[in-house]
Amino acid sequence: MPVRRLPPETVERIAAGEVVTRPASVVKELVENSLDAGATSVTVDVDGDGTARLRVADDGHGMSEADAELAVDHHTTSKLAEHDGIEHVSTLGFRGEALPSIAAVATLDVTTNDGGPRGTRVLVEGGETTVSPAGRATGTTVEVRKLFHNRPARHKSLSNTEFARISDVVSRYALLRPDVRFKLRHDGRDVFSTPGSGNYTDAVLGVYDRTVAGQSTTFDHETSVAIDGVDHSLRLEGVLVYPSVTRSRRDHVHVAVNGRTVGNAGLKRAIVSGYGTLLPSGREPIAVASVSLPPELVDANVHPSKDEVAFVDGDVVESAVEDAVHEALTTADLRQSGEVTM
Ligand code: ADP
Ligand code: MG
Repeated sequence: MPVRRLPPETVERIAAGEVVTRPASVVKELVENSLDAGATSVTVDVDGDGTARLRVADDGHGMSEADAELAVDHHTTSKLAEHDGIEHVSTLGFRGEALPSIAAVATLDVTTNDGGPRGTRVLVEGGETTVSPAGRATGTTVEVRKLFHNRPARHKSLSNTEFARISDVVSRYALLRPDVRFKLRHDGRDVFSTPGSGNYTDAVLGVYDRTVAGQSTTFDHETSVAIDGVDHSLRLEGVLVYPSVTRSRRDHVHVAVNGRTVGNAGLKRAIVSGYGTLLPSGREPIAVASVSLPPELVDANVHPSKDEVAFVDGDVVESAVEDAVHEALTTADLRQSGEVTM
């Protein structure tokens, strides 16, 4: 067959398939948009596995009517200035692809207000966009319905553990952004909420429980790392649950790099190594660690769903993280750590 250019609809479906792989990835994109909009409160509401209906509401800065209409198009973003490269990006989003990708595989219903006398509703359904006035306080609500209705195979491949994945996504942001109030609801019931106090222990209490929160220490560690002969500052803050409370799997090691939750295995391993021999064998810790370092040392644009970042020198960053965790745990008062039986 000769080489041909793909029709635009096919290109759109391919792109959407990379960003929007499942309901949990939709939730992740929407929560990141809320955080980028400076929200202090984010509420996620999910029916069932999230395909029939899911909704993310925030009290961020909202959008004007013109911006809301533009936002659902491809490669439209307010997050990169004209001459900025993506290497300087400090927001969670930057590709302008989330909303149009969602609209390609679902009904997208956006209600927003940027502080004006009235808000705007932009509804994208079956390729048609309708814009109308709407009542809403400042902020944005994005409701996604009939997700994957035009992708039966994708829809069928979802298991009944899908809500657990959504809960993981929201938990991670709730733990890593204790300054933001998060609420997760499922089938009309509250699953968890955090107070947005800025305190990591409060977030752990909201997402986990009193036992876990009571067995933890917060830490805030500043250090410098030498990369190519130049010193850069690295800050690591968060909360470490004492090794008396552990889990059998590593999904409770929550990591963010410059505010973005990431799945980098090397970083998680570094945190576990920081616990060292304190950890009973075969057990994994519960830990929340937020790493901040100069943006030029991090590349967020290496993964379609932005689940991993690349570092200029990952080994140096990982060993700094390991040391910081180790130090925080050895200076914490481990007598409180429940080595005593309860
Ligand atoms: P990106 O986040 O990469 O810019 P998106 O498709 O996720 O791309 O969003 C497009 C644009 O829509 C954003 O740049 C932002 O201006 C606007 N937007 C999306 N969600 C929100 C929200 N919750 N609050 C305010 N603006 C939003
Ligand atoms: Mg986005």
